Amino acid sequence: MKIDVMGVSFDNVTMDEALEKAKEILAGERAQYVVTPNAEIVYEAMHDEDFCALLNDAALILPDGAGVVLGSKILKTPLKQKVAGVDFADRLLGHLAETGGSVYLLGSKPGIAELAAEKMLAKHPGLTIAGMADGYFKDEAPVIEKINAVKPDVLFVCLGAPKQEKFMQVHRGELQVKLMAGLGGSLDSFAGTVKRAPKWMIDLSLEWLYRLIKEPKRFGRMLRLPKFLWAVVWKRIGGGR
Ligand code: UDP
Repeated sequence: MKIDVMGVSFDNVTMDEALEKAKEILAGERAQYVVTPNAEIVYEAMHDEDFCALLNDAALILPDGAGVVLGSKILKTPLKQKVAGVDFADRLLGHLAETGGSVYLLGSKPGIAELAAEKMLAKHPGLTIAGMADGYFKDEAPVIEKINAVKPDVLFVCLGAPKQEKFMQVHRGELQVKLMAGLGGSLDSFAGTVKRAPKWMIDLSLEWLYRLIKEPKRFGRMLRLPKFLWAVVWKRIGGGR
């Protein structure tokens, strides 16, 4: 079932259900893509129709963040749970390791994907990392050629929004992969160069506060979270009509 949160049609799934859907995509014929918008991204999509369409064109739309889940509750159409992109990616790696599947890591600064790969292989022995490339390329054609040379089952696209969503939609016809996932800064997380919040903060839905303390330059961007929540409340009380 889909749940609309300010124009973005989220899949109302638990983490386990998200993984089941990913398995269905992996069993399919066509390359499809997964997106993981948080509240900041939804706020951006509220002001950019084309970007909103890129998100809604995904085969699976997962709520990466407590803000989106809170928004859905305020709108009285609650999503089951937050499905963080980085956690989804980790579960998917576990599945690939069990089934002999492969992943290609695309994105983040030079050297980060290599570090992330080391950590992934340590946690998921049996995983095949088919290749990797940093996210600071000029031409897309050679990148696509490199990916198609190894035909991975899964492609992690970690270029930040909206670059990663555009990349996945524009190239899905020519990319010889089964599933692509737009995962923002997840490779930095896997690599350990950007630490995730401690569990107690995640449990209290305070991951955003941790990121703000660690990366104060994100402040301007993070103002989109209260703006998003205000727009949700406004819609709920009827002002959005
Ligand atoms: N990035 C990239 N190519 C670019 C711009 C960004 O590979 O041209 C990477 C950047 O290094 C970082 C990720 O994309 O690893 C975006 O991280 P951010 O935390 O901004 O992601 P989001 O919050 O959008 O998930």
